[in-house]
Order: sequence, then C-alpha cells, then structure tokens
Amino acid sequence: MSVFTMTQGARHTPEILVVRKGLVQLEGCARLTLAVRVSCPQFCDLRGTFVTFQAQGEEEAVTRELVSFNGVENETAEFDVLTGADPGYYCWTAAYGEEEGAVGELGLVDAAALAEAGTPAGALAPAGQGTSAEAGKHADPGTPAGAISGQGSMDAQAERPSHARVSHTLGFEYSPHRVSLAAWDIPMPVLATGPQGVVTLSIGAKCNKGCLLSGHRIRVWDAQGNEVASAVLGEETQEGTDALYKVPLAIPIPESEGPYPYTLGFNGDQDHPESRGSLAFFVAGKAEHMLTIGVLDAQTNKPVAGALVALHPHTGHTDAEGQAAIAASKGQACLRIKAEGYEPYQATLLVAADASLNVELLPKPLYEGDF
Ligand SMILES: [Zn+2]
Ligand SMILES: [Zn+2]
Repeated sequence: MSVFTMTQGARHTPEILVVRKGLVQLEGCARLTLAVRVSCPQFCDLRGTFVTFQAQGEEEAVTRELVSFNGVENETAEFDVLTGADPGYYCWTAAYGEEEGAVGELGLVDAAALAEAGTPAGALAPAGQGTSAEAGKHADPGTPAGAISGQGSMDAQAERPSHARVSHTLGFEYSPHRVSLAAWDIPMPVLATGPQGVVTLSIGAKCNKGCLLSGHRIRVWDAQGNEVASAVLGEETQEGTDALYKVPLAIPIPESEGPYPYTLGFNGDQDHPESRGSLAFFVAGKAEHMLTIGVLDAQTNKPVAGALVALHPHTGHTDAEGQAAIAASKGQACLRIKAEGYEPYQATLLVAADASLNVELLPKPLYEGDF
C-alpha cells in the first residue's frame, strides 16, 4: 500500500506524562511545579495543540498548550499547583488526544472551556471543521504533506494524524515536615567579659519525620534583626535521639547587663518549610567580689553537696565539701539555697568585699518527705 494510505489510516498512540519540576513546602500546603510532556512514537511535532489538566476533586479542567518540541517530546510551559492544607494524597490528571469515535474532540476540551481560556480557535477546533492545519504537523519524513493533499483532499485536517486519547495522573503525598529548633547548654547567667567574649551553647534541629538535616545552616539573629552567629549542622545527632542534629554555636556576648532574646532560623529546603526558634540569656555585669559559701546540715554539721546556691543573677552548686564559690557585685543581694531534703534558705546580704560564710540547712521533717 502507499505511504499515504497507511498514514491516513493510522492512529498514533502518544505517551503522556505529568512531570514534577519542583516542590516547595509552604506554610500549610505544598506547591508543585509541573509540566505535561507528550511524545508520539511517530515523533509528531505537537506544538500548538493542547492538553487538558485537572486537579482531582475540581470540576473544571484547564487547557495547557504544548509549547516546546525537542524532536521527541512536546512539553507545556511549567506551571504551579497547590495541595490543600490537609495532609494526604493529591493528584492531577493530564489528558491528550481524541477519544475513539469522537472525531474532532481533542482531549476533554469543550467549546466553553476553550472560550474561557482564550485559546485561539484555529489551534484547537475539532479536526472535522478543517481549521486545524497548523496543529500537529507531522514530522515523519516518509509522509510529506504533499502526498496527502495529492489525493485531492483539500481538507487541511488530513495533514494532522489522529492521536488516541491518553492520560496520566501524578500523585503526591502531602505530609508536612516540621523542623523544630532548640538551644541548650546556656550558661546562667552569661558574664559580661568585654568585646571579645562569646557564649558557647548548643543548638539543634529536628524534623518530625526524622529527616537527615546535616549540612543545613542555622542562623541566629538578635532582637534588632542582625545576624550574630550561624552554624552548619553536622552529622552528629544528640545522644539518645535518632534525629536531633546539634552543633555548638558561639554568640558574641553583649556588653551591657540585661536579658537578651535571639531568634534561631532554619532556611528550609524542598521538603521543609522555614522554621524559627528562640533562645535567650541574661548577661550579668562584671562581679567584683567572690563569696565562698559553705552549706552544712544543721543537725549533723556535715557538708551538703549539690545544693543550689543563688545570688541573683549568679548561681552555683556546692561541691562534695559543701562549698560553692559565687560571684557577687557590691551592694545588697538576696542569697537563696536549695537542697533536696532540706528546707529552703533565704537571706539578704550586703556585699562589700570577698567573703566566706557558712549556712546551715534544716532537714525537712521525715513525714513530709514523700509528698
Ligand atoms: Zn503522532
Ligand atoms: Zn523532614
């Protein structure tokens, strides 16, 4: 048979694919960048024809034009779609070609949808109306257009082979990841040490899905929004956790006394939205004096180890000898001591020089011990 007859009778079966070009996790949903790719086994140049595209659950399909052709694949421009806010499975379906027997119907496009989309009628009108000459030029060198029209058919539509209707559905599981940030090992208080001083603490990040986060940078901003420090998460995770990535961080110590709040930031990536955390510390002024405080059991006169000794804003714990050395500024200060099994102790001191003092703690009555 002649090439012409074979060609006219052939119905091409293209392949269609919704391809994912990008993914960004936003607050409360995900944004996918997609394109639709159509390739015909006869290498048809399908530029100027349209695919239909529809999100699951949406009533109306939209049309998207195939705008590029690399000799094999035709592709639409990239476009964005959003998932809903609820975690779950979202899908989008693209279709191309004509239903069997439904000559002239291209995909699911109906006239109303076309009018709405502002599609040039010439490119999309049903083949039966003979207005689709530009659409779908056949690339097969064995089928010159001249051979077709040579039979006397002036129908322009004869130049475009018919393509069987095909569709593809892209599914995407939206399952939002959240990265939480934390800071710990913060000394209390931080002592003002001059312009070169830094406070070294630990920061960490963890994804609720347990993702690998090493290599991500965590930034720290002060209350004025200036970036004061940053660190890249290492391979190491916090002992006892599977996915808390931590890293030491050095923050310059502010020069004046007071509370200092900071914001921690994680930039996010394909799978993770940006996230923020916070940390704060109190910077204490330089203390001129040192108090050595001995803590004793009032009944046995034995040293009490591990007692918390606080002389605001400085704190410390007693050692095995019951001794704690606490920095102190000149002036009046409130001394508080707490130890397990003892009544809390509180006294007001007037600090004028380095000094040592002993404090006796009263054991708690035994009958209260279990409460
Ligand atoms: Zn084809
Ligand atoms: Zn994750």
